[in-house]
Amino acid sequence: MEIQCSECKGMGCEACEYGSWSVSECPQAMVRDLVAPLKAMELFLQGIPPITGGLLDQSAEFVDFVNSMQHEDALVLNDD
Ligand SMILES: [Zn+2]
Repeated sequence: MEIQCSECKGMGCEACEYGSWSVSECPQAMVRDLVAPLKAMELFLQGIPPITGGLLDQSAEFVDFVNSMQHEDALVLNDD
C-alpha cells in the first residue's frame, strides 16, 4: 500500500520515496504502541490525568507527547 507523504504532499522529499510512503505491514501493528498514550491523552484533555496531581506531576515525556499530537492534529485540520 502506498500513502502520500504528508511532508511534501506527494512532491517528493527526503522523508519519502518519490512522494509516498510504502506500507508493507499491518497499519494497526505500526501504531500499536501509540494506543495507550493516545487513550491517556484523550482522558487528560478531559481533565483526568494519568497520574494523580496536576500538569507538573505528569511525566515530561507524556506532556511532550500530548503537545506533539495536538500540533499534528492542528496540521491535519488546517491541511486543505
Ligand atoms: Zn515527501
